[in-house]
Amino acid sequence: MDAGTHLFVGVVTATALPSFSLTQKLLVIIFALLPDAFEWLDYIKMREISTRPHHEVRKKDFVKLGIRVRQSVFMMPYHFLHSLVTITIFLIISIIYQWPIVYAVMWSGHILLDIPSHEKALGIRLWYPFFHWHTKGSFDWWALPFLKDKHILGYWAILLTISLFLIQKFW
Ligand SMILES: [Zn+2]
Repeated sequence: MDAGTHLFVGVVTATALPSFSLTQKLLVIIFALLPDAFEWLDYIKMREISTRPHHEVRKKDFVKLGIRVRQSVFMMPYHFLHSLVTITIFLIISIIYQWPIVYAVMWSGHILLDIPSHEKALGIRLWYPFFHWHTKGSFDWWALPFLKDKHILGYWAILLTISLFLIQKFW
């Protein structure tokens, strides 16, 4: 799923937590986005092996370039942050240090949203780094009409408008 949608989920959840401080609300949003924090590394690899001009390289090219991107060392941080193993370790640390459990929930929620929406090359490696099996997904998120090419900017503008309204009205 795209970063804009994950960000929006973070804003909506933070809005539903009125007792949280501003810092805690921002952390809720950061944890909703965290698994994709190193996605820019994937683009570096994709641009390296894609035959298309750099400005034309798109997320959907991952699917075409398939296994070459997925097995790249550039994808290691992505797989690591999308792993149930990593989340479980974080959850245990959260319980020990009594951090709000919602941070681990946001992280897990990100993975749950990614599982059905990531097809083929973008399948989520839930047991990374121990096993390289990946989920198959049921549809390609980036193939949806409102996300294709420049349409994504309109979609993000709608999410941003709603987010700003929520922040101004309820935070
Ligand atoms: Zn993700």
